Amino acid sequence: MKRIAIIGSGVAGLACARRLAADPSLEIIIFDKGRHPGGRLASRDRDQNQFDYGAQYFTARSPEFKSVISKMMEAGAVEIWNGRFGRLTSDGFLAETSQEARYVGVPCMRSLAEALGGDLAKSIDLRQHHRVTSIEKSDRSDGCWDVSGELTRADSTEPFKEKNFDCLVITVPPVQATELWKGQNEKLETSSLSPCIAGMFSFNSPLPIEYDGIRIEDSVLAWAARDSSKPGRPAGERWTLHASPQWSQDNITLNEQEALDALCARFFQLLKIDVVAPSFSRYHRWRYALVTRALETPFLIDKDNEPMLAFCGDYCEGARVEAAFDSGNMLAKELLDTLAGVPR
Ligand SMILES: Cc1cc2nc3c(=O)[nH]c(=O)nc-3n(C[C@H](O)[C@H](O)[C@H](O)COP(=O)(O)OP(=O)(O)OC[C@H]3O[C@@H](n4cnc5c(N)ncnc54)[C@H](O)[C@@H]3O)c2cc1C
Repeated sequence: MKRIAIIGSGVAGLACARRLAADPSLEIIIFDKGRHPGGRLASRDRDQNQFDYGAQYFTARSPEFKSVISKMMEAGAVEIWNGRFGRLTSDGFLAETSQEARYVGVPCMRSLAEALGGDLAKSIDLRQHHRVTSIEKSDRSDGCWDVSGELTRADSTEPFKEKNFDCLVITVPPVQATELWKGQNEKLETSSLSPCIAGMFSFNSPLPIEYDGIRIEDSVLAWAARDSSKPGRPAGERWTLHASPQWSQDNITLNEQEALDALCARFFQLLKIDVVAPSFSRYHRWRYALVTRALETPFLIDKDNEPMLAFCGDYCEGARVEAAFDSGNMLAKELLDTLAGVPR
């Protein structure tokens, strides 16, 4: 039985595992440092103050992704967000004209990741709370990878080590992948991601804003969404604000309250409505949020490494959930062919 380790249970890691799991002769273990699968498909869902603070919605263009999404819609894990979408420019509001469906996970964005991983539960070993800190070649003469790290539970940071993987798939953003691998791959280093500071705000009554999702052309804010307008969410008036890449970069060291105050003040100023104090607010700082330069290749396999070392993630093709899915899915297909010895 061949053993495959996947680092990261974001959309790319889950899509890769999903396809690999079709081969019952493979043992697949996914390690992820987070509490839940999903990565940047992230939601806060501990109480009424529920928010999607990473990806806001996603589109589906390839037949394969469309088919996966349509099954998830049947299962109730995904719905179309029939919001009112606009663009705020220095000339005022313009309605978005694109008719492309905007999908969201239900009851929160992370539900898409849970649905992608759900039917894998029996065939893969998904280990959340596992931060990988080192990957090394095993001392076995036929060549394998060892993966080690530490648990990230509140009650335990114990070390762990899993040995003898025939193939290692790294799905974390490229800077983190390079740090982990400690090797050099010129192609990997050509991609880049911008940061994003996200603010989550609840209000006691509806704000007089006619749009539910607003792309903003501004130096401070890039996006505002009425999270409570998405399907299957708790009642209320909740807004997620995303700062622009440049503002996020320049203000990455602000503390939580300073960042929240700045985002909220700018929101009311741009929307030209009376300022209302939020009843709840939280922030999240994404150091690697949106792909600004993609590799323009669906995945990477490091040919200089034996045993197999491969990389996938949204950064291969673009800043989209579907790009992450395609990358993981296409890498898995390539690995299955390689492991089966299919000539190319
Ligand atoms: C603020 C924001 C807004 C966005 N908006 C949209 C949008 O509206 N529409 C859209 O389509 N896309 C959007 N995106 C992009 C979308 O979220 C990503 O393209 C997609 O989720 C990337 O998936 P991935 O699997 O490639 O990477 P990730 O989701 O980053 O997965 C990587 C995983 O690796 C784990 N990891 C990292 N380091 C380690 C380690 N050392 N050990 C173990 N695990 C580790 C992480 O916990 C994570 O789960 C947005 C992203 C952000 C942040």
